[in-house]
Amino acid sequence: MTFESLGLSADLVAVVAEEGYTEPTPVQAAAIPHVLAGRDVLAAAQTGTGKTAAFVLPILDRLRSHANTSFSPARHPVRVLILVPTRELAMQVDESVRTYGRTVPLRPTVVFGGVPIEPQTKALRAGVEILVATPGRLLDHVGQKTVNLGQVEILVLDEADRMLDMGFLPDIRRILELLPPRRQNLMFSATFSDDIRRLSGSILRDPATVEVAARNTAAESVRQLVYPVDRDRKEALLAHLVSKYDWRQVLVFTRTKIGASRLATYLDRRGLEAVAIHSDRTQPERTRALEGFKSGEIRVLVATDVAARGLDIEDLPHVVNFELPWEPQDYIHRIGRTGRAGATGDAVSLVSIDEADLLRGVQRLLKKAIPWTVEEGFVPDRNAEPVPLRGPSAGRPVRTHHYAHRSTGRTRSGSGSRS
Ligand code: AMP
Repeated sequence: MTFESLGLSADLVAVVAEEGYTEPTPVQAAAIPHVLAGRDVLAAAQTGTGKTAAFVLPILDRLRSHANTSFSPARHPVRVLILVPTRELAMQVDESVRTYGRTVPLRPTVVFGGVPIEPQTKALRAGVEILVATPGRLLDHVGQKTVNLGQVEILVLDEADRMLDMGFLPDIRRILELLPPRRQNLMFSATFSDDIRRLSGSILRDPATVEVAARNTAAESVRQLVYPVDRDRKEALLAHLVSKYDWRQVLVFTRTKIGASRLATYLDRRGLEAVAIHSDRTQPERTRALEGFKSGEIRVLVATDVAARGLDIEDLPHVVNFELPWEPQDYIHRIGRTGRAGATGDAVSLVSIDEADLLRGVQRLLKKAIPWTVEEGFVPDRNAEPVPLRGPSAGRPVRTHHYAHRSTGRTRSGSGSRS
């Protein structure tokens, strides 16, 4: 399978070759021909699957006939609107549009909240064909009449499930009313929940459905492991594991912003460079944290689900659930950060007794039990162990740990032989 055989034009094929892509990813192979043919598409694809190129490349191809070098803003109406849930994703998608579109004279721009609006207003006034936006800030611009969406030909909803999770549905509906009824619609979502199906049913027309990963399953390349531990020993256990196994580039999930900040401070004080990234942080702070993490200066990034969504961090070796998420689905989103593109990754969950139900929920969704091990020195209080994982769903204890270089982790046998 080649990019050429998908029907992309020669200069875009050349661009992806320059990017070092040798063949299309599954979502690209499945979606690109439909998008080129002008069909609506509903695609299930997580970050890391190459989904951005799956819509950006064919969109560029379809739009190139409109490319012009006129200075008149009127000759550059918004033809493509790409809605995304977070600022990070907005920046990444914008970057992809610029990268893949470097030979196509179409003007892209990106608007998102948390930064001054004036530079965005100026860019919009000059005329742009491809607009990447978070819903709230886009509506601010609509309110100021700096953008007209009346000529949009293609609408993309990227990470639609997360947009719903973040409560953007009313904003999306308001934006939809501003678009011409005749247009191409592309919807990307990590999962196909009932809400997503309802939304797609109301937006998409006879969509081609692209599902590259099985529904609700985690990537096989992710090794999952649970550490039962007392709640008040979680910080210490995490610091211990990071040091002992010399983990680098660890993304740790907490449920709350306060929890994220506290944990980052704790780790940092122990010499493990850590930063919390969450929505209270200013945009420059978030960008700096992400860059530090990517460059290796920052070893541990602590994030809430909302903040972590859309972070494009490739080949992330370690994801830690400091707390299990309230929604089992979020567990899949979280561990989707690792084990991408053929690489293997570890997803470790620190689980205290009060989270036994959440763990069960996750295992139900995965349709399998997650192996578990107890770290020496962190044996949970006997009376406060997680409720044993009984029956057919019993977690299989691991004797030889997943990590090749690990030897001392004391393992437990299954629930039947608990003493
Ligand atoms: P995405 O899922 O869009 O966030 O993409 C994840 C990463 O995969 C990005 O860094 C892309 O540069 C990269 N990528 C996209 N398409 C391909 C491809 N066909 N081959 C190799 N890498 C790719």
